[in-house]
Parts: sequence; C-alpha cells; structure tokens
Amino acid sequence: MSEVWTLGIDIGGTKIAAALIDPDGVVHGIRTIPTAAQEGGQAVLDRVIAIAGEVVSEAEHPPAAVGVGTGGQVDPHTGEIVFATELIPGWTGVPLRRRLQETLSLPVWVDNDVHTMALGEATHGAGRGVRNGLYVAVGTGIGGGWVLGSRLYAGSRGLAGSVGHVKVEINGRPCTCGGRGCVEQYASGPAIAEHYRRLRGLASAPEGRDVMEAMRAGDELARFAVQEAGRWLGFALASLVNAMAPEAIIIGGGVAEAGEPFFEAIRSSIAQHALPTARSTPVRKAALGPRAGLIGAGVLARQGLAAERGSL
Ligand SMILES: [Zn+2]
Repeated sequence: MSEVWTLGIDIGGTKIAAALIDPDGVVHGIRTIPTAAQEGGQAVLDRVIAIAGEVVSEAEHPPAAVGVGTGGQVDPHTGEIVFATELIPGWTGVPLRRRLQETLSLPVWVDNDVHTMALGEATHGAGRGVRNGLYVAVGTGIGGGWVLGSRLYAGSRGLAGSVGHVKVEINGRPCTCGGRGCVEQYASGPAIAEHYRRLRGLASAPEGRDVMEAMRAGDELARFAVQEAGRWLGFALASLVNAMAPEAIIIGGGVAEAGEPFFEAIRSSIAQHALPTARSTPVRKAALGPRAGLIGAGVLARQGLAAERGSL
C-alpha cells in the first residue's frame, strides 16, 4: 500500500492544479489551468475532468486513486460541495466525487482545500511526525484543518477547522459570515493592512504584502500591526489548544511570510492565555508552500484507499 501513486487535484478560485503524487509526497507532472470560476460550476467541473484526464493519460505510474481539495465546504462522505461562496458561482451542490468517479473510473475522495493543506503539512511537511495537529492558513481570510490520529477530521458535513470564525470579542467587528468578533477580522492580511492604515493615518489601506515589506524595511508601525494580528490569532488559538490539545500548530498562507515577529506574537499570546500545560504548544511555519493542498489531496486518496482495503 505504501507504494501507491495517486492523482492529486487542487481547485481554487483562480486556478486548478493536478499532478501525480508519489508515495513520498513528491509532485510529478503538474499541470495548472485557470479556474475560470465566472463561467460557473458546470464549466469548472468540465475543466477539472479535462485536466485530470490529461495527467492520467501521460502518467508513467498510473494512479490508484484520486484525491481532491477544493474551495468550499465539502461533505467528505458524499464528496459533494455543501456550500461554496461566490468564489466559484454554482459550485454549491456539485456532486464532485460521483462525477469524477464516473469519468475517471478510479476511486475518488474529496475534501476542503485547507483541509488537504493540513493533511499535506501533517504528513510530508512541517507537521511530519505529528499525529494530532492543527493547520491554520492566514491570508485574505483565515481557514484551518484538524489532523487527528494522522487523518483529517472534517467534522459534521465538513465544517471543522473554520478557525477564522472563532470569536475573540463579544459584539466585535462585523464579519463576512454575518457574525461579529471573528478572529479573521483582527488577524487576516486585510485586517493588518487596515490597522496599519489607521496607525499611519492613510486615506486608503495598502496591500497586506506592502505592510510586510515596510516591516522588513524597519517600519515600527508595520511591525506593530503584524504583531497585533499575531496576538489576536494567539488569543483564538489558546481556546482551541485548551479544547483540543494539539501536539503542534502549523501556520501557512501569505501572512505567515511575515515571519518571526508574527510567530513570536502568536506564541506569547498562547503562552499567556492557554492552560498551563498547553502554554508551550509548538507553533511552526508551514513548509510545503502553495503545493501543500495538492500533496495533501494525494495523501487523502492514499489513506482513503488504504482504509477501504483494511490496511490502515
Ligand atoms: Zn465570521
């Protein structure tokens, strides 16, 4: 079973990637096409099927199974998109697993893309050796994924890991989810940029990456905005650490590129707010970069197949 090659597919709002994933988690023969999300769910599905077929037809090692990570909430048991935002219009309700199985004649497993990033990092990246861990992606939004017993924990209908909507303030800032006080409004890239705008008295907020560049150039206010985001995120993570006691937390996404000022703030916030025996929970930077989701999709397929064959 350990020698199985799989096909990994990563479906995001801007691009679709497909590749063969070898037993060591190495990516082979990657192909990438634009998602063209505005053309709607059916067109996106057609493009996924086309790119998957191309990779399979050129494969030196034929894949034994297919794993998919996609934007949106996915029911891992049915492989159906439970809910997707307007990032891919018409994606909600698409029976992704069934359609791919029909056309590729291979077993297929589907999960949310941040979940597959979590599985990729836990298996072949910064979380290697961690059986129970939390992955958090901090970028325009904040997402997460739990790996428990070395396998994904997707929760009821795939909702688990919605770390961005952990509440940090009652009656706090309004959130895109319709609620208030979600950590995403305090610690995401746009939240950092908005904080920096206020500190500097600018008319409009810069891009998150501009703030990081300013920080690296020695701008103390930029550094403060990044650290403040880390403190808020650490505050949210302290509650998750208390509830779930992961062995480690892996942080990826664009904001993780802010580096040590961000990570130090997260660690000291967890140390301040978590229960005594959880205060030193390791917080590490993700290691696989933008391919984490693709690699994790391959692992998802490998594990699914192993479980089905009763060898896991
Ligand atoms: Zn929210």
